[in-house]
Amino acid sequence: MKNKTLIFDLDSTLYYAGNQMEKLCYNKVMSFLIENMKVNKIQAMKLIKEFRKNYHYDSEAIAKEYPFSQSEFIEYVCDIPTDFISEDKELATILKQISNSKYIVTDSTQKHTKDVLEKIKINKDLFVYIYDAHDMDYIFKYNKICFEKFLDKFNLCAQDCVIFEDSIKNLEVAKSCGMITVFVKPDKIEKPQYVDYMFSDIKTALKELFL
Ligand SMILES: [Mg+2]
Repeated sequence: MKNKTLIFDLDSTLYYAGNQMEKLCYNKVMSFLIENMKVNKIQAMKLIKEFRKNYHYDSEAIAKEYPFSQSEFIEYVCDIPTDFISEDKELATILKQISNSKYIVTDSTQKHTKDVLEKIKINKDLFVYIYDAHDMDYIFKYNKICFEKFLDKFNLCAQDCVIFEDSIKNLEVAKSCGMITVFVKPDKIEKPQYVDYMFSDIKTALKELFL
């Protein structure tokens, strides 16, 4: 694992988010709809339900069915308070000790990533690049093209990459590209077949595999 490139998801991978992120994002989507579409709370909730039935991401529904871009929607929705995230000195130290090159690949934004890293107190310069939703051209990680474009941009070979993720769907896609997959999962479940390693948290994963 010495020369492998490390690819980190952000939310619920580099820190434990519980259901906080989901709640905060849901509320932001609600307020986007209420402000921009002149709907009330109940109508907004119905719309979100529809979006989630028909699309992977709300942003895809918004861009397809309404006169808003994924960019403006995502910037708005990902601009959430990060005060539920706390400093993690141990993680900061572990990441510094591991000399492998590191990337963040997140379906969120640069701003949100920087806000989160600041809260955990991880220096963003530890990462070669923060690859966000805009870099992806809104083709998200559940789509193989996302990883193919990322690998191509940085001239990386999938077999030389280890990806850390809490999303099982994203790991399945990363595995199909040829990456080594690490599932960061606080609950005890059986290891899915396309997961190479499974750990309860990112620090345990990094210590076991790289220190
Ligand atoms: Mg995540």
